[in-house]
Amino acid sequence: MTNPLIDPFARAISYLRVSVTDRCDFRCVYCMSENMTFLPKKELLTLEELDRMCSAFVRLGVKKLRITGGEPLVRRDIMTFFRSMSRHLETGDLHELTLTTNGSQLEKYADDLFAAGVRRINVSLDTLDEDKFAKITRWGRLPQVMRGIDAAQKAGLRVKINTVALQDFNEDELEALTDWCASRDLDLTFIEVMPMGDLGNEDRLGQYWSLKDLRARIAERSPLIDLPESTGGPARYVRVESTGQKIGFITPLSHNFCESCNRVRITCTGEIYTCLGQEGHSDLRGPLRASESDADLEDAIRAAIALKPKGHDFDYSRQQIDGQVSRHMSHTGG
Ligand code: SAM
Ligand code: SF4
Repeated sequence: MTNPLIDPFARAISYLRVSVTDRCDFRCVYCMSENMTFLPKKELLTLEELDRMCSAFVRLGVKKLRITGGEPLVRRDIMTFFRSMSRHLETGDLHELTLTTNGSQLEKYADDLFAAGVRRINVSLDTLDEDKFAKITRWGRLPQVMRGIDAAQKAGLRVKINTVALQDFNEDELEALTDWCASRDLDLTFIEVMPMGDLGNEDRLGQYWSLKDLRARIAERSPLIDLPESTGGPARYVRVESTGQKIGFITPLSHNFCESCNRVRITCTGEIYTCLGQEGHSDLRGPLRASESDADLEDAIRAAIALKPKGHDFDYSRQQIDGQVSRHMSHTGG
């Protein structure tokens, strides 16, 4: 039995998030600039390399694998990769295979995802208003995403909606979004906007809407019960007493979750980031491509985990964006 991955702060690494592409069919204003330059294809890990990389992590004790991007479902032949990963579910080595998607391709792929063993997915959706949706995603169209969510539920996938909380944008839709999710039996998680990437003129501090305020507004309608469950990440959950609805809050800026952090991220070029909020990373593509054996790769993974930082440095409190990291979320994978 291989030794599991334990970092210097005694945290076991059991959760891997993998970005399979930096490309996307949307251009959300908080994530990408309108004129993004994408990486040349040869820089990306091939589907075979992604398989080797993820399988190495599964051998080293990763139990949960989240596929992300960019938009993972725009990567060519991505279903081949999902089907191939399902073998680790069948052996029981992997407990969960999941993805985060903007929903645009779900109508096409929901059944295939379910057939590959995916049971739960996250769909990002910040507004229920068609015009606002087009504004925030620049290139996205709401009806297409709605059809995708319908198809996912029909296929048997449990859907969680991820909503980035944006002041002066979806503040007025808080109740509508919450009620819509309850009526459709969708889980719901709100995310605080994070200072990622250089997006030109976007006013980050203006976009920031503290989830403390948001939670207080939900609590005006019904008492909220804190749920003890932790995912080892920045999400905290409550139950709305009046309806039983579960709502999550991802507050990377206002809460310290790092002590229980169980995750690492791989970019589409095979870099490992052991902390979302730090620039430190190591290359795994080199060792992966250097040899057909996975020995070098496993050594490189262990060496990277040995450098996992204690925590991140994001801080809005001094009214300047301290700890901002220059890369885009679509590069690291959200
Ligand atoms: N394209 C897929 C999607 O939108 O779900 C997967 C990748 S996307 C980078 C993953 C998540 O990151 C999305 O829920 C998105 O809303 C979130 N995200 C992107 N930029 C962000 C930012 N600056 N702050 C907080 N969340 C962000
Ligand atoms: Fe694309 Fe997701 Fe980023 Fe929006 S948040 S631009 S859908 S990668």
